[in-house]
Formats: sequence, structure tokens, C-alpha cells
Amino acid sequence: MALKTLGSTGRFGARYGFGIKKRVLKIESILKKKQKCPFCFKKSVKRISAGIWYCKSCNSKFAAKAYSPEIKV
Ligand SMILES: [Zn+2]
Repeated sequence: MALKTLGSTGRFGARYGFGIKKRVLKIESILKKKQKCPFCFKKSVKRISAGIWYCKSCNSKFAAKAYSPEIKV
């Protein structure tokens, strides 16, 4: 049974410890939500794979951080 506080990391059960699951939860909540596009500023960016992001709105594929679409200018 998944605990409420564990969110998407509930699938790990009692393994791996709570500290690391909290970090995973933070990352996974970013991955699930659509992120803001650095070009058109619309929330339509999805992660394709680690570091590769795609914006549905302006049709741009770009490289950024593995777990967030921020890019340093
Ligand atoms: Zn865009």
C-alpha cells in the first residue's frame, strides 16, 4: 500500500529510505507536470529523455538539464 506522503515513490515500498525517496518525489513531480518553455514561455514542455526537452507550442526540441528544462543563457 502506498503512503500518501510518498506520492509517486510509493511504488518503492519500504525500500531505499525516506530521504532519497523525498528527492525522487521532487524530481518526478517536475517530470509529470508540463514545464515552462524558455522560448515561448508557455507551459508545454515535456521531457523526451534525460536532458532533452520538447515544446509542443513552438515545436522546439532543446537540450537542458536532465531533470528540469532550465537553460543557462
Ligand atoms: Zn515553446
